[in-house]
Parts: sequence; structure tokens; C-alpha cells
Amino acid sequence: MISDIETETGTLITNLTCPECGTSYNAAVIHTVCTNEACKSTLFAVYNLQAGIDKSILSGRPATMWRYKEFLPVFEEKNIVTLGEGFTPIIPVENLKRFIGDNEVYWKDESGNPTGSFKARGISAAVSKAKELGIDVIATPTAGNAGGALAAYAARAAIKAVVYMPKQTPQVFKDECRLYGADLVEIDGNISDCGRLVNELAAVNGWFQVSTLKEPYRLEGKKTMGYEIAEQFNWQLPDVILYPTGGGTGLIGMWKAFDELEQLGWTGSKRPRMVAVQSESCNGIVTAFNAGKQVSEFADGGFTIANGLRVPKPYADKLILRVLRETQGAAITIGDGEMSAAVKEIARHEGMLVAPEGAALWQAFKKLKATNWIKPGDKVLMINTGSGYKYLENIAI
Ligand SMILES: *Cc1c(COP(=O)(O)O)cnc(C)c1O
Ligand SMILES: [Zn+2]
Repeated sequence: MISDIETETGTLITNLTCPECGTSYNAAVIHTVCTNEACKSTLFAVYNLQAGIDKSILSGRPATMWRYKEFLPVFEEKNIVTLGEGFTPIIPVENLKRFIGDNEVYWKDESGNPTGSFKARGISAAVSKAKELGIDVIATPTAGNAGGALAAYAARAAIKAVVYMPKQTPQVFKDECRLYGADLVEIDGNISDCGRLVNELAAVNGWFQVSTLKEPYRLEGKKTMGYEIAEQFNWQLPDVILYPTGGGTGLIGMWKAFDELEQLGWTGSKRPRMVAVQSESCNGIVTAFNAGKQVSEFADGGFTIANGLRVPKPYADKLILRVLRETQGAAITIGDGEMSAAVKEIARHEGMLVAPEGAALWQAFKKLKATNWIKPGDKVLMINTGSGYKYLENIAI
């Protein structure tokens, strides 16, 4: 390839690989999942991390997730589609100290991302790579936030976006998609129903799907949370990370980041214990983890105010369960009433209007501390994945 060095990102990507069967794929062409029928796994981007790269490359870089561009998949700067996503703040719990004892407890607050959620990270990476690969229509099923993010980044990239969303989602999630110019289709059903439709129609219409973990690059965008956590905690990872698990992209992404950081020699071998927090209505991961299973069963108990957690069967359930096992993690469910109460408690005492998905983590923290799973002295990080402002119609004030 003839290229102008000035315009290259310096990405160290070498190929894609299947974490189940090890098949390698060319990173310069379009892929979805592993083509081996027996696994159909999410593909992982692989980077050449043996190069002795120094952390000092980060100094003076912009405060967005693209500061880690060597570890992201885009080849050319001109293809990066960015709205300033990432490098979100770490905020300590301040006025609710009576619940935290001698633990240090922090939020990583993703609510300030473009379109109000951490979906911006994954979608920025996926849309950038889609632009680089010449894709002109991108489709996704969504529980809400992924649709809004796709609509915005596709608008920015001048790519057409098609979004399938459950009718029961709060109005703001629909309005933002339409304002950003996406084609929005409302479905009488859950995200799995939307996913089936997108899958069928994508094949017929030649759309590129960015359904959670069925393309390789949303994972890469969400992975940057792991890089940031390491950098913001001065390369000392916390002991426990609580994560509200829908499809699991962020959980798997952080775990991948921690592996890459160790290969780079930027952090040690210590891993945070990862906790998947689910809604009581979609508890398949919690049930499977507690039963020691390697895969989850379809579980949909209906509406939850945490629409991002209404994922009845995550596509990458095997990987989610593997992360929990390998990090000596845990899995726990939280009900809508508890989430609603936590949204209000955090707003009133901490000045943060977190999404119900984020609020669920606060309740999970209290429970895991009460059972002594979170130990005295553990440093704990909760990922507030979105802004509560988008959910107000479902929070009784
Ligand atoms: C999508 C979403 C989640 C779940 O993220 P996954 O990557 O699907 O696990 C959690 N919280 C919010 C606010 C979301 O939008
Ligand atoms: Zn495979």
C-alpha cells in the first residue's frame, strides 16, 4: 500500500482472531463473526504489542479515546469519526460515605459522552472503520442508546443509519435517532426481536450490521475504558469493577484492554474482579454464572427501566461468563424499584443524575459489601454508563 506517513494513525493492528477456534482474519477487509459454524464467535482485533512502546506517547494527546489510536483499528486519520468521546472523569463517592466504610469507591462517569452514553465509544470506532472500509449503510438493533449513537456518528460520517428499536423505549431515544437523520423502525417486541429482523433485512438489502459483538470494532471502542481506567489510576488497576451488563461489550472490552496493557508492560498482571450487574428482568448471566455454566439461557421477564439491560440472551454470553470466571468476579441482579431509589439517592447526595443502569451498580455495591464479597480496603470502580436525563419519563419523582 502506498501511503502518506503524515496521514497514518500508527495503528499496530495486525489481524483479527477468533478467541474460540483461533482462526485468523485479514483486518483490511470487512468481517462480522467467525465463519466457522461451530463457534460463530465475536472476532478480536490483534495488535503488535511487543514493540517496546513507551507510555510517554500519550502526553499531549487529545482528551478523547483516540489518544490510544495505536491500539485502535483505523489506518488513516481522515477516517476517524469523532465527536469528542471518551476520557470521561473519575469521580469519588463523596456524601454517601456512610455506605462505603473504609473502601475507596469511584464512578467512571460516561454520561458526558456524545449522545449521553458510553455507546459513543463503540460506535465511534465501528463507524470510523466502516467508513474506512467503504460501507454506505449501517444497521443496528438497539435498546435505545446504541441507536442514538449510531444515528449521530453516521450523520457525522455521511453514512446512512437504519435503527430497529422496541416500541416500549422512552420517547427521547426515538426522537434523537430521527433528529440525527436515521431511519427508525419501532418494533412490538424486545431487542432480540429487533436483532432477528435486522439480521434478515441486512442480508437482503446489503446493510452492514453493527449489532452488539457481531462486528469486531464496537468492542475496540469500548475497550478504551480499560486504557483510561489504567491511565487515570496511574497504572494501578482498582480491585473491583462493577459493570451493568447488557450485551457485555464494555465488560469484555475492559478485560481485553487489561490484557493488552500487561503485554505492553504498562500495568502488571493484577486483574480487577469484574462484576456483571443485570436487571431482575433479564438475569440469564447471573443464573448461568451462579450455576457454573459456560453459556446462558434466554431470559426475558419483560419491561425494565434500565432498557440497556434488557438483553434476554447476550450474543457473547460465553465470553462474558469467561471474564467473570477468570477474574474471580461475581454476578448479581437488581430490581427496578431499587434502581429508581438509587437514581434519586445519588442525585440528591452526589449531584449526579446517573442512568438506571449505573444506579444498579450502587445497589450492587451495597449488597456485595454487606456479604463481605467486597472486602475492607478494596478499591472499587462503578461504570455509570449513561445519563439519567434520557430516562426521566420512567423515574417517578
Ligand atoms: C447499552 C447499555 C448498557 C449495556 O452495555 P453492553 O455493552 O450491551 O453490555 C449499559 N448501560 C447503558 C446506559 C447502555 O446504554
Ligand atoms: Zn472461531
